[in-house]
Amino acid sequence: MPPKKLFIPGPTEVAPAVLQAQTRPMVGHRSREFADLFYSIPPRLKQVLLTDQHVYITASSGTGLQEMAVRNAVRPGRKALNMVAGAFGDRWQKVSVANGKESVRVEIPWGQPIRPQDVDDHLAAGGFDAITIVHNETSTGVMSDVGAVARLVREKYPDVLILVDAVSSASGVRIPFDDWGLDMMLTSSQKAFALPPGLAFAAVSDRMLARAAEVPHRGWYFDLLLLEKYLVAGKTTPATPAISLLNALDVQLDRILAEGLENRWARHQRSMALTHAWAQKNGFELFPAPGYESRTVTCIRNTRGVDVPAMIAFAQERGMIIGNGYGKLKNETFRIAHMGELGPADMQALFAVLNEFLDE
Ligand SMILES: *Cc1c(COP(=O)(O)O)cnc(C)c1O
Repeated sequence: MPPKKLFIPGPTEVAPAVLQAQTRPMVGHRSREFADLFYSIPPRLKQVLLTDQHVYITASSGTGLQEMAVRNAVRPGRKALNMVAGAFGDRWQKVSVANGKESVRVEIPWGQPIRPQDVDDHLAAGGFDAITIVHNETSTGVMSDVGAVARLVREKYPDVLILVDAVSSASGVRIPFDDWGLDMMLTSSQKAFALPPGLAFAAVSDRMLARAAEVPHRGWYFDLLLLEKYLVAGKTTPATPAISLLNALDVQLDRILAEGLENRWARHQRSMALTHAWAQKNGFELFPAPGYESRTVTCIRNTRGVDVPAMIAFAQERGMIIGNGYGKLKNETFRIAHMGELGPADMQALFAVLNEFLDE
């Protein structure tokens, strides 16, 4: 059986050279050789995440960094404002509560973005240390204007840290971390970064590190100050790093920078435009509020009443995997990812197959 092509929002296609990098022989993680690899990564990762501040890499999926974010940002007696516009915002709110943080949960209807006004209405009550916001809600295909939210928070609430989940958008969409004044942006390896699952990356501000020093019980594995201490002392990481995945990251960062960030973002945008055009031509509507469509995954409303599981099975038999709707949106929507390695030619190949199904 030839491998199937993944048009799902994670894990995504991984380039052969990146898969191959994982077969490099093992080295000791306290060796010179490993340190050389490890310290070559932050300068390149900072370029991709658009920050001159701090970056961290953990052997975890992105959800681990949702924990890191709230554990390091919210002091006892203070609150987190958790904006929930889909399944991953919901998870972050649950993660906040599970870590003992006082949480105010704000529900936004699925399909809508998180708007500055929604945030302002709640932050005005005071007592908040941080806001959690999902940039690209993979469950609804909605991309919020985090820049606009950040502008408001930086102006009116300078002490509130802005924590952003960019798991399914970082590297596929321009998110200027420093320019927007964000405090932590987290992402996973297996989405737009087009790596195997198992690593997570964070950009972190100086302000966030200062805050962490005021928070007791940050845990150990995801303690930012412990990671920072090892990093600056030249001691790499406190616990064993995922060496094979870091080898893959080494190759993928070079590939991303060789393509060029502008080109990479434009490629995602072109694939999105093709996907929108295909959906509209075939009588489907898009699920997100107009103007807030994700550039990495399109969530399509099943306005034609097609048998979504049958369509998914049809594509699968022809070597292509698309995504069903997430959770409560199952069969009512379906999702086509256009992130990571995928480009316009891949999308056209997929649409040829889906057209065959729809024309039957
Ligand atoms: C996939 C996803 C997550 C969860 O990431 P894991 O790497 O599976 O832990 C969180 N947020 C968003 C927006 C996602 O798309």
